[in-house]
Amino acid sequence: MTRFWHPVADMQAVSRSGELVIDRGEGCHLWDERGRRYLDATAGLWYANVGYGREEIVAAAAAQMRRLHAYSHYGDVSSRPTTDLAERISAFAPMEDAAVFFTSGGGESVETAVKLVRRYWSLLDQPQRTVIISRERAYHGLAGYGTSIVGSDVFKVGVGPLAGDTVRVPWDSAEALAEAIDHAGPHRVAAFFCEPIVGAGGVLLPPDGYLAAAREACRERGVLFVADEVICGYCRVGDWFASSRFGLDPDLVTFAKGITSGYVPLGGVIVGTAVQEPFWQSGAAGVWRHGYTYSGHATAAAAAHANLDIMEREGLAARARELEHEITEALAPLVEHELVSELRSGLGAVAGVQIDPALLADDPDLTDRVTLTAREHGILTRTLVGGGLQVSPPLVITRAELGELASGLRGALDDVA
Ligand code: PLP
Repeated sequence: MTRFWHPVADMQAVSRSGELVIDRGEGCHLWDERGRRYLDATAGLWYANVGYGREEIVAAAAAQMRRLHAYSHYGDVSSRPTTDLAERISAFAPMEDAAVFFTSGGGESVETAVKLVRRYWSLLDQPQRTVIISRERAYHGLAGYGTSIVGSDVFKVGVGPLAGDTVRVPWDSAEALAEAIDHAGPHRVAAFFCEPIVGAGGVLLPPDGYLAAAREACRERGVLFVADEVICGYCRVGDWFASSRFGLDPDLVTFAKGITSGYVPLGGVIVGTAVQEPFWQSGAAGVWRHGYTYSGHATAAAAAHANLDIMEREGLAARARELEHEITEALAPLVEHELVSELRSGLGAVAGVQIDPALLADDPDLTDRVTLTAREHGILTRTLVGGGLQVSPPLVITRAELGELASGLRGALDDVA
């Protein structure tokens, strides 16, 4: 029996039914320990944007490890790959003259962003601006603040009091956001956290005009706009960031996953000039006592450079724009299936195949059975909050592989129906 306590798992069930032990990967495919081959429909947890087995990332990480695997970056200490990576990200960030604070993943990035916006307002003599607004169904990781602002209550069960001063708004209405800010009092609201596409909460695409209107509602009321691009960033939505694609000019961007395609854990927060000011220019902040042992880990930074090189050379942002059509085309026939009520797709290389909520009402485990059965058809997918199936393949997926994905999902749906 395993001694590995899996994340987001029912360990009684896992210890009874066993683990799926993934052994190796190549391109868009994975093999388990028994040698069975799967198509990875989700790019792991939305991170393997350049696919598996990319030798040049391995070589870059190994070379950096040989030279200097890491040295902590407290105070004025740095290492070259890290400093260069901050500059590189700043150059294509969706705001001018951005600075980059590194973390080890999405959860730490959200944590950093919440502390940063609150600290910012306190330095501007507005310490009462503590309210954080987020959207229903949104996912922001499961660290302390992330758990507090996540948009689905399933993540909050039984942990007692969470961080205060959080407000949740409908995921699809900029008017509701404006009203919520006005209701709380704009002078009390620190920031609005917004996943451009709600990912883990069901792949909910922003309604036309929503993102621009939400951004404007914040600007008009002096509220900071934080784009949580942990999923959307690094080409998944057809540009470096969804914020770039939608011209959002956010105050902060949180990122992780695609920055290294998951070869080494890395995340961060991109910070625009307004929020930088009391930390970088006026000096009001003095030492900001926030950071992590691995903030700016040199090996992670080296892996990120090699990963970004691949993205640039292979034009993966442009490829994601093609994929938004190709994925829709491949999956559209599934909507005819008796178990499926809707396909959400057409923006970036993400899609949600919704299992009919009317069926889920009587049979809440239905999507999980489809997900498990898909493995028998050689497809690794995942059940989203709300009962959809996640489709977010590596951006290097071919048309033929998309066909393989669609027919595997069809086979699983047929078996379960
Ligand atoms: N924010 C968003 C939008 C995410 O999708 C995720 C993870 O899926 C996170 C934050 C948390 O990232 P991590 O799991 O690396 O802590």
